[in-house]
Amino acid sequence: MSRKLKRMLGIVLSLILLTAGCSQTAGKKESGEGSLNVVATTTMLADLAGVIGGEHVSVNGLMGPGIDPHLYQASAGDVERMQKADVVVYNGLHLEGKMSELFENLSAQGIFTICIEKSMDRSRLLISEDDGGVYDPHIWFDVTLWKQAAQGVAEGFAQADPEHGNSYIANLERYLAELDELNAYIQKRAAQLPKGQRVLITAHDAFQYFGNAYGFEVRGLQGISTDSEAGTSDVSALASFIVERRIKAIFVESSVPPKTIQALQAAVKAQGFDVAIGGELYSDSLGGEGSGDETYIKTFRSNIDTIVDALKA
Ligand SMILES: [Zn+2]
Repeated sequence: MSRKLKRMLGIVLSLILLTAGCSQTAGKKESGEGSLNVVATTTMLADLAGVIGGEHVSVNGLMGPGIDPHLYQASAGDVERMQKADVVVYNGLHLEGKMSELFENLSAQGIFTICIEKSMDRSRLLISEDDGGVYDPHIWFDVTLWKQAAQGVAEGFAQADPEHGNSYIANLERYLAELDELNAYIQKRAAQLPKGQRVLITAHDAFQYFGNAYGFEVRGLQGISTDSEAGTSDVSALASFIVERRIKAIFVESSVPPKTIQALQAAVKAQGFDVAIGGELYSDSLGGEGSGDETYIKTFRSNIDTIVDALKA
């Protein structure tokens, strides 16, 4: 089969999977029942649900900080929490790769689900050619896409709990302004690096949206999911790239064990060049309790600061 045909088949297949994995059933909350009981999969989504829901929701996050959503398996307790929820919020785009069937079942059982994938402008989604033409799920790395996610959550909440619809929309408006500020901050800091130095190398390919939005060339040791290991040829190819471009620093990710990046650093050293580990970036989860980076906004300020400080001359 030709490469092109394979890629096309991959896209068609992923489209079928996507539509199957992102259904929504509406079950409105009765008025006067107390706060909306929301379950969100990732830390990013739990934060977003809390900001948009404010005092009218109680949010339960399934995955803690530092947890890898690509590999996450729902426990029996998680399933129970989702079945009892008024609203379940998840990313889709196969981020929660081991939970797709579960979301379908929840929808079939009449649980109201908000699938962030549905609020995205399709034309702005990136497709990963290296991973067989599937959509890249790491949309939170582009703040302007995260604004669309916020919109989707607010609309979903307003639909599930119309009594407090105005409050959700007001929270959204306020938050969109804060996200605009964050976006401007990231752009300002990125601009402090000369173009040739804007190269970001991390453990897995989570940062393509980031690179696209803020002008970085991005390389990940593993693909867009962490469920396959990087081979030695991937490591040595990336090491050669680092040596050629004389890249100052590479980065560990908070939700991926550091050993792959350490192996890359060693491979660079074997080629006679020293690359620093520039620090830890939050990739598929926000900062944990006590890190000072527990919110989406703080996490992404911290990331851009870590990146620019380490790559600066
Ligand atoms: Zn990822």
